[in-house]
Order: sequence, then structure tokens, then C-alpha cells
Amino acid sequence: MTDEHPAPHWRTKLVHPGVTAPQDFRALVPAVHRGSTVLFDRVADARDDWRGDGYTYGLYGTPTTRELALRVADLEGAKASFVVPGGQAAIALVYLAHCRAGDHALVPESAYRPNRELADKLLAGLGIEVQAYDPLLGAEITTLIRPNTRLIWCESPGTITMEVQDVPAIVATAHERGVPVALDNTYAAGVLFDAFAHGVDVSMQALTKYVGGHSDLLLGTVSVGTVEAHERVGATHGLLGLAVSPDDCALALRGLETLAVRLDRLQATALNVAHWLKTRPEVELVLHPALPDCPGHDVWRRDFTGSASVFSVVFRPEWDAERITRFVEGLRLFRLGFSWGGTHSLVMAYPPLPRMQRGYEGRVVRLNVGLEEPADLIADLRHSLSLVS
Ligand SMILES: *Cc1c(COP(=O)(O)O)cnc(C)c1O
Repeated sequence: MTDEHPAPHWRTKLVHPGVTAPQDFRALVPAVHRGSTVLFDRVADARDDWRGDGYTYGLYGTPTTRELALRVADLEGAKASFVVPGGQAAIALVYLAHCRAGDHALVPESAYRPNRELADKLLAGLGIEVQAYDPLLGAEITTLIRPNTRLIWCESPGTITMEVQDVPAIVATAHERGVPVALDNTYAAGVLFDAFAHGVDVSMQALTKYVGGHSDLLLGTVSVGTVEAHERVGATHGLLGLAVSPDDCALALRGLETLAVRLDRLQATALNVAHWLKTRPEVELVLHPALPDCPGHDVWRRDFTGSASVFSVVFRPEWDAERITRFVEGLRLFRLGFSWGGTHSLVMAYPPLPRMQRGYEGRVVRLNVGLEEPADLIADLRHSLSLVS
């Protein structure tokens, strides 16, 4: 070391190490990059912006978050995707990117409940009116569109009641009136329904469900199909500071690699269990998109390339809340809990649902099948039904 550059003290070396490991490590797995600060060589290069391919600040992307966003966008056929801390954060981002005080938005009454709660408990106070509509309205949604309507949500199939929506018909009507359409595409894992081929402007999903796939991750994406949606969502994403952990992104990247085999197996098991439940005398309706009982079944056949792991059954009228509770609590392999898309089978009973139609009077039980052997799941259901019947 020279006089001008004496050998650094060990304290300095802790922060400015004189050695680095070779960087040419080639694994099959994307690296987990942690970083808030991004370094620049020249003052003139320093900027802090969500746009562009370069890295400027951790919030606007690290190689790990970008890798996940790019892979999701590529899978979904999107212009770009933004990774956010969860599906609910994705929903909030979509609303706040499109709606201002005085605006009106439409949401299907069968939407994920926290979507509607966000509207009622937060957006209403910001002067944004969110109106619920019957999910089975297709082109007739035109009668609900107002001059100040800035966003139409679709969620197909709907949460719990599983109505499959005629998204192309809604998109056609909305676009005639200049209104963008956002889709909650979580059920389809972004792949079983091609949102952008069907004209949707913005498609979000909870990666928490199928992409994560192991009930150990909360993460979401908002994908955009138009330049306008890209601008709105990109700018709002940065303003809200929706940063995500690279470790969580690494889990989602790993989940993506096995998504196809898990979806195939979940689809087969769910169909197996759903068809068996349809034969049971206790059951009035099986609300699975691939079964004719499900409202919008024909639309599912036309627009989807597969079905997933979650569906509901409606018990016959003589099944009251007390019997349904005993049945649900008598299950052993189906565990009582919210969410879905993981390796475990889950069950949940619902009180009468806030729907104008199809509230099903508290006779709805939602099932999520996991990766267990189908015969064992059916035996579990049979056993618990026999305890109650
Ligand atoms: C679970 C879910 C969400 C929310 O996802 P989180 O990651 O749990 O916030 C949104 N929409 C649908 C349809 C969901 O099922």
C-alpha cells in the first residue's frame, strides 16, 4: 500500500472487502439479489425511476424481482408485470391506478370478499364509488356504465359461488364505452384463462395460491396489456412503495417450475372428488366450473383450457348450519382454513352470502383439494357425511 492509500483498518475492510468470490457461478436457479441502493459510476447516470430496463433503486426492481415479473409477463402474454406483496395488494394497486375522487367502478358481487371490503371501507371514503353487479351479466353490463365509470372488474370464476363470467362480452361492451377491464385471474393461475387474448387490460393474480403452491408465501402480480395500463400501474406501484422480498420472489420462481404438474394433478383430483360428491343424496349442487351445475359452465368450456383445485358444494335444504358445521369439523384430511392452491386439502363453511341472487342460504361448503390420494379424500368425505346423516 502506498502513502496515499494505506492498508485499510479491519473495520473498513468489513464494509469494503478487498476480495470477492468469482461471479461466474452458473446454476439452474436464479440468484437471490438483496439490494436497496443501486450504484452509479457517474452523477449524470444517477436517477430514481420505475421506467426503463436499468436498475435505479431496489423498490423499482432487483434482478430477482425482475426475473419473476418477466417470467409471469411472458407466461401471461402481458406487456409487463409488477410484483406486489400479495393478491390483495394487487387489487388495491389496480383500483388506485385507475380511480380518483368522483369516479365509479364496477365489481362482480361474487368477487373475493376483501376486494369488496376495500371498496366499502377505504375507497368510499376517498370519494370512489364501487358498485356490485351480477357476475352473470354479459354485454348487459352496459346499462350500469356511467360517464364517470373508470374501471370494470371481473373475477372468473367468482369466489365461493364460482360463477364463470362472459369476460369477452364484458370487455367488448366496456371498450365501446372506453372503460378498461381488470381481471382477478387467480383461479386460472394466469394460465388456464388467457386474459390478454380475451381483451382484458389488466390481469392480477395472487401468486399466494398456485404459483407459490405450498401455503408458505404471500405474493401477487399485476400484469398489464396496454401502454396506458402500464403507465398507470407502473407509476402507482412506485408511489405506493409496494416492495417485495427477493426471498419471496425466489419461492415464487421455484413454484413456477412445478406449476404445470401440480395443476394437472389438482385438476384431476378435484374433478374426481366433485363427480363423487355429485352422486351423493345430501348434495344439491356441485359448483365446479367443469360441471353443468355451475353458473357459466358453457362459458368455462368456451374460454378456459382447464379447471383448478377449488370448488363448492351446496347441500340440500334440510342441511342446516349445525349439520354442515358437524360435517366440516368431522373431516380429517380436509383441514379447516382459508386460502387454497397448496398441497393440503382445505374446507370452509359459509354463512348466507351477500349476493343479490345465489346466496345459497348458508348451505355452501367450499373445498380445496390438495395433492393427497383422491380415494383417501373421498373416504374422508364419506366418513364425515356418515357421521352426520
Ligand atoms: C387469495 C385471493 C386474493 C388475495 O390474495 P392474497 O395473496 O391472500 O392477498 C385475491 N383474489 C382471489 C380470487 C383470491 O383467491
